[in-house]
Formats: sequence, structure tokens, C-alpha cells
Amino acid sequence: MSEFVFSPKPIRIESGDGASLTDESGTEYLDMGASYACTPLGHAHPAVVDALTEQAEQLTYVQGSYPVSVREELYDLLPELAPEPIDHAWLSNSGTEANEAAIKFARHATGRSKILAMTGGFHGRTLGSLAATWKPKYREGFEPVAGGFDFVTFDDETELREAVDEETAAVIVEPIQGEGGINPASDGFLKAAREATEEVGAALIFDEIQTGVGRTGSMWVADQVDVTPDIITTAKGIANGLPLGATLVREWIAEDAGNHGSTFSGGPTVAAAAKATLETVRDEALPNHAGDLGDRFRADLEAAIGDRVKDVRGEGLMIGIQLKRGANRVVRDLAMEHQILALPAGRTVVRFLPPLIIGDAEVDRTVEAVEAVIDST
Ligand SMILES: *Cc1c(COP(=O)(O)O)cnc(C)c1O
Repeated sequence: MSEFVFSPKPIRIESGDGASLTDESGTEYLDMGASYACTPLGHAHPAVVDALTEQAEQLTYVQGSYPVSVREELYDLLPELAPEPIDHAWLSNSGTEANEAAIKFARHATGRSKILAMTGGFHGRTLGSLAATWKPKYREGFEPVAGGFDFVTFDDETELREAVDEETAAVIVEPIQGEGGINPASDGFLKAAREATEEVGAALIFDEIQTGVGRTGSMWVADQVDVTPDIITTAKGIANGLPLGATLVREWIAEDAGNHGSTFSGGPTVAAAAKATLETVRDEALPNHAGDLGDRFRADLEAAIGDRVKDVRGEGLMIGIQLKRGANRVVRDLAMEHQILALPAGRTVVRFLPPLIIGDAEVDRTVEAVEAVIDST
């Protein structure tokens, strides 16, 4: 067991179907966290299951230097789904690796080392991404992390403009902070980040590992704000639960990205799952659905509990409720008394990142349960 790293939950999950998870005693849970946004199509989605089984039977894996159709198709599809002029992709195996690649590419392409990250930000747990991650609890006892990183106050335009200079290789920002507590950056801040980096020739990196793949009402938050970064990183939901990260870059980064690599990069089985996931998200217009349903979800939460909590916020199906007290108790009561799986985000925020395939019924059930739990505590 990995208990020295993870604390196990008191529920033993055996199977999943759509937005539903079933434990060993047959109890069904509504999966409103999607294991940190990793299953946008829910569990056992036929498009993903078929793609996976067919690919596993045909060719499970061959190293990245051999051209393989499914890998090439994914390498074409990702830039197609990204905002112009982002036109290249690099595939890895996780979110933290997608960010490591972004940091390395930005340093190589600019010939500079300084990376500016945000207070409250989370970018992963390997020593480079960890250096860009704000909370000391993630870093304590593991130092030294990678050097050359500085923090600026999230959403503080003036401080950011002052910090970006001729030595800056990149600014990395989550356009909506996930682990930090569902904190959206203002459009003005993202625009300032774009202007400041452009002025000095630094790269702007959007970490869309939690926000991306349709969750916030469009494929990426970058599509919703009038800002196109130089690099978008994505992972979590991109292959509906299989391990994949992607670093999507503009031409000037791609043409001078330096020497990088990864053995499993774009392995055929994982690539097949990702291609099926992304095509389904696009073809079924799930970003629009997430946007509309999310608006309703937030409005209903606001009406039900708005006067008893500090804030209900987010975009699309990335929603946080800022409580007046600790979030763990509410998350536990939702699971144990109402069979609804939610997530905390920091100490006082309850977070929902459901599969994008849910509908009105799942939203209604969740709002009712949240109201009951808030009333009873
Ligand atoms: C989860 C997350 C990461 C790290 O992804 P891993 O796959 O756990 O390495 C990085 N950035 C953001 C915004 C995340 O939510």
C-alpha cells in the first residue's frame, strides 16, 4: 500500500459507469469530482473503451521515433483544438511533466532562466514544477527545488508588470487556480501578463491542466479570454483517465525548444484514448454544455445556500463554494450521507469538477444535498 504517501478514503470503489461509481458493497456514488477532473466523459465511455481495446489489440506500444498513425493523428488534433497560432504539441505522461517541458522549452527558446509564478498556484510535484508551486507544504523537506523561480501576487497587475523584465524566460499562471481554491484570474490580469511578456520577449504559459478539455465552457480558458499564451499545458482529463500530458506551443518556441524526450511519449494506447476523448468532447459540443449547465449549477447553489456561505464561484463545471469554515466535513458528509463525491480545494473551499456528461438531474441532486449538509452543520 502507498499509505505513506496517500491517505486512503473509507470507500472501496470497484466499478464505474458514466457519472456513477460503485463500491464493493454495491453502493452507488455520484462522481462530482471526476477524480480531479480526470474523466470528462465519465466512466467506461464506449468511445474510449472501444478505442482502447482496438488499439491495445493492434499495437500497445512502440517508441516515439517510429511514426504510428494514431500518435500522428493526436499530434495533429491537439493544435487543431488549440487557439491559433499555437501549432505544435509535445506529449508526456502527466501534468507535472507537461509543465517541466513548458519551463524547459521557454528557457531554451529565450536563452533566459527566470520564471515568474503566482501566489496560490499549483503546477505539480517534480522539482521544476514544484519550484513554481506556491504553498510551502508541498516543498517542505524536499528542497532545494529548481532555481530561478520568483512569485508575484496572483491577479495583481501592477506587481506583475514590475516583475517581468529582460531576464524573464516565462510567466506561468493557471487562468483559474484549482488547488488554490477555484480562483479565476481577471481578464485584465491575463491581458497584462500577455502585454508584459510580449514586450520583453518572454513566454506566457497557461497551465490548463485542471481547467482544460472543455470544462470551463470552451475547450480552454484561453478561448474565453482575449489572450493567447505562447504555451498551454494540459493533462488530467485529456485521455479520460489514462496518463497523458501535453505541452502546446507556438512556432517560436517549437523551433528552438532544445533537447527533450520521454520514453512513453504518445504511446499508441494512450494516444488512442486521448484522440477518442478529445473528438467526443468536440463532436458532442461538451464545452458549451459545461458552460450552460455550470451557469445553472452556480445560480442554483447561490439561491440555495448563498446566504450561508462566503462565495460560490467558478466557470462552467469548475465550481467552488467558499465556506465560512473547514471544507473537509462538508465533503465527508456529502459522501457518507448523500453518496456524492466532491473535493476540497484548500482548507475552506468545496470543489466540484464533475464529468462533462452530467445533466440537470445530477445538478439538482447535488444542490439539494449541499443545502441539506450546510443546514445540518
Ligand atoms: C493536477 C495539476 C497539476 C499536476 O498534474 P499531475 O498529473 O498530478 O502531475 C499541475 N497543474 C495543475 C493546475 C493541476 O491541477
